[in-house]
Amino acid sequence: MQLIFLGPPGAGKGTQAKIFLERSGIVQISTGDILRVAVSAGTELGLKAKSFMDKGELVPDSVVIGIIEERIQESDCKKGFVLDGFPRTLEQAKALDGILDKLKIALNHVINFEVPDEELVKRLLGRAAAEGRSDDNPESIKNRLKVFKEKTQPLISYYAEKKILRNINGTGSTTEIAEKVKATIGV
Ligand code: AMP
Repeated sequence: MQLIFLGPPGAGKGTQAKIFLERSGIVQISTGDILRVAVSAGTELGLKAKSFMDKGELVPDSVVIGIIEERIQESDCKKGFVLDGFPRTLEQAKALDGILDKLKIALNHVINFEVPDEELVKRLLGRAAAEGRSDDNPESIKNRLKVFKEKTQPLISYYAEKKILRNINGTGSTTEIAEKVKATIGV
């Protein structure tokens, strides 16, 4: 089963992808996690991505599309995967369609986690304190929410037109939201 977890920063995509992995054995692919590993390792990819990430800007499409194209062909993705934080632009979504077509893989559901802005800011500031993510500062948070609205929000209608969009209210406890995910996709 191939899924996309869509939603603004702080919507709980990563948390829910981890819970889903424990339940189903289907892997989580987070472009944010892959990029953070590259930044801490100081690789060429990390050096390229760091300045964008710190400002809350998107890393160029070509970079993340290349990451995903390679990652989804690894052997642990045979059962399927959850894309967490990808795609984030229409160009990424279209490139993903092309890659999946080529590999003859279908996209089953796009789960769109809906959470009000005030709640997102509260969660992201809380995460900054708990995890110390360098992009969870007020300046970057504000920009990431703006970038989401400008660049990523259009994906909601893109997938609605393809009839694979499933909206989920992302407020409430982690367990409650996990139950809604389960009820929506049936796994
Ligand atoms: P995340 O952990 O998903 O919130 O991602 C953290 C940061 O990594 C984002 O603010 C972007 O700078 C970068 N990033 C992650 N995924 C993408 C993507 N699909 N396209 C562009 N940039 C991304």
